[in-house]
Amino acid sequence: MAYKFVDNYREKGARKQLVKHLEKRGIEDKNVLRAIGKVPRHFFFDETFWNQAYRDIAFPIGDGQTISQPYTVAYQSELLHVKRGDKILEIGTGCGYQSCILLELGADLYTIERQENLYNRTIQVLPYIGYKPHFFLGDGSKGISEHAPYDKIIVTAGAPFVPDVMLKQLKLGGLLVIPVGDENSQKMVTILRVGENNFERIELDTFRFVPLVGDKAW
Ligand code: SAM
Repeated sequence: MAYKFVDNYREKGARKQLVKHLEKRGIEDKNVLRAIGKVPRHFFFDETFWNQAYRDIAFPIGDGQTISQPYTVAYQSELLHVKRGDKILEIGTGCGYQSCILLELGADLYTIERQENLYNRTIQVLPYIGYKPHFFLGDGSKGISEHAPYDKIIVTAGAPFVPDVMLKQLKLGGLLVIPVGDENSQKMVTILRVGENNFERIELDTFRFVPLVGDKAW
């Protein structure tokens, strides 16, 4: 893979068009749109595929994984209502594009990836382009209990069910955003912790994610 970190007028223009497209698709949060307009998504692509970087599609990033579709990233980010300083756990770092968006929104970000190749690439690329989450390698289906509780948890892979252990790692008033379903499609689910053992669950639109694989997953 030949990565190049140059943000020229063509890519900047394409990024503006992507933001307009996401607004038309219904993304309203101005901070999310601003973050999408700022993070150079083509930095996560081999230069050969830069012409694909600002299309609203998921794209293969190697090791059988994908960079999420911009609409999906914007949709999940909007649901999180990120406030500056929020302690957020992201499960499924992948190439780190969603991580950059959350950092732009002011998150104190903890992010975990189970695939070592991806993890090794992302821990080099993100700091190099100016983004510094706390990185972890391992099975995020169990959350990361050592650093809990979190204000928000976002899962960027499709889960067969909501792992209890994730709910326990939310602060009171904390929010989990997780796609739940079978291998073909998942409903976006938000779960708000309203009491020690009380949770409010809402099911939203349908998406298609790569599977969440692990002890509390597939
Ligand atoms: N967030 C990424 C982005 O910005 O494009 C996309 C993530 S990709 C759709 C889903 C990622 O979740 C993959 O990199 C996959 O290896 C990872 N994953 C799957 N199961 C996991 C688990 N149990 N713990 C951590 N990461 C996991």
